[in-house]
Amino acid sequence: MSDLDLTPPPDLQALAALSARIGSDPLLIQAAGGNTSIKSAGVLWIKASGTLLAEAEQRDIFVPCDLEAMRAALAQDVDQADRAQDFGLSQAGLRPSIETSLHAVFTQRVVVHVHCVHTLAHVVQADPVAAIGTRLDGFRWCLVPYAKPGARLAVQVAQHVASGQVNVVLLGNHGLIVAGDDLAQTAQLLADVHDALAIAAADLPAPDLPDDLPPIWRPGPDSLSRIACDPARLSLALGGSLYPDHVIFCGVGMVAVDTPPAEAGTLPPVILLRGRGVLVAQSASAGTWALAQCLGDVLARVPADARLSYLTAEENDALVNWDAEKYRQKLNG
Ligand SMILES: [Zn+2]
Repeated sequence: MSDLDLTPPPDLQALAALSARIGSDPLLIQAAGGNTSIKSAGVLWIKASGTLLAEAEQRDIFVPCDLEAMRAALAQDVDQADRAQDFGLSQAGLRPSIETSLHAVFTQRVVVHVHCVHTLAHVVQADPVAAIGTRLDGFRWCLVPYAKPGARLAVQVAQHVASGQVNVVLLGNHGLIVAGDDLAQTAQLLADVHDALAIAAADLPAPDLPDDLPPIWRPGPDSLSRIACDPARLSLALGGSLYPDHVIFCGVGMVAVDTPPAEAGTLPPVILLRGRGVLVAQSASAGTWALAQCLGDVLARVPADARLSYLTAEENDALVNWDAEKYRQKLNG
């Protein structure tokens, strides 16, 4: 039995307030994505898998985790470190986030991980460093290439952050992590990086969806509808999957059709209607809607002639067949 003190740290409530604020901004967090944590006396308090940051002030979303045991597992046995639930100390039944290991590797006390749209618009490009240019000059940052979220990614991140010098990590085809020793400092750093990477959305044509859609579909989010009406960005959308949560919530890649199908068949829950807009299945979850909107928000912020880096077939398969993800989706249903 662990004799760790499970009294929540005094600033956990302030972390909840910050989490609720960023969790309500679709340009930072979509659906059950992203996570926040705080370390206190050997315990890592982290968002539970499948909970929403946006709800951090309405319910307990944080679970205590054995920080040193997780760090030891990362150093010795990556597969064990990937079973975040083995390190949970809560009796309440919620599992720690599947990205817990990503937080454990930071020496800083507070860690915030977001799927920031402005960050994604840079890190989905084939040459993210060139895309970032001088925007992050003055920050202590690094870029870690894509790996499936979890312990293998955490091990890569650890190589950059172990010294405590780096406090901004851009994750290729994934998102952003910022870290700081207190909440105010970390929240400010997130705001500063966000401002440095901010890109205005391109002015794209308005959607023109037919009025008589088959009943299985509803008009999708405006941001992705506009992508369907812009030939250059439509072809970027059809190139493949750009980041994990897209695959989890919308399926692999994106499909375009010329007329709205009457039957869903094997179609994914989100389909583009060429030159007209986007359709979302009536049965689709709020998470699917949020990730469809996210794709539109990201593609409106990359250059129309950008060269993008898509997940490989193997990387897509690893996400589709991911047990921990199935658990998260079930909770987020
Ligand atoms: Zn993530």
